[in-house]
Amino acid sequence: MSLERSGKLESDPHCPECNSLLSGYGNVSEKTPSRGPKPDDPALCIYCGAILVYTDTMQLRYMTMHEFNAMPQQMQYEIAIALQQINTRIERQQRAN
Ligand SMILES: [Zn+2]
Repeated sequence: MSLERSGKLESDPHCPECNSLLSGYGNVSEKTPSRGPKPDDPALCIYCGAILVYTDTMQLRYMTMHEFNAMPQQMQYEIAIALQQINTRIERQQRAN
């Protein structure tokens, strides 16, 4: 699993929670084929940990609880692990400041 950037989106989406520009993306799952995100794909904000979804125009919106519950359990697990990594990174940065 890696949170490293693997590509850049032309749509320049922003996080609806913290308004950070999220044009870069990386795959959370090692099983995910190495393609860029598509509409309805889940996404995480690497700056605040918000759980998001790509829209038809490749902007980002909040994921609903219904959508989260409808995801395969493996994907929920991978999102939880990635969120833990993001939160650890955020806490590390806060301590450094
Ligand atoms: Zn955010």
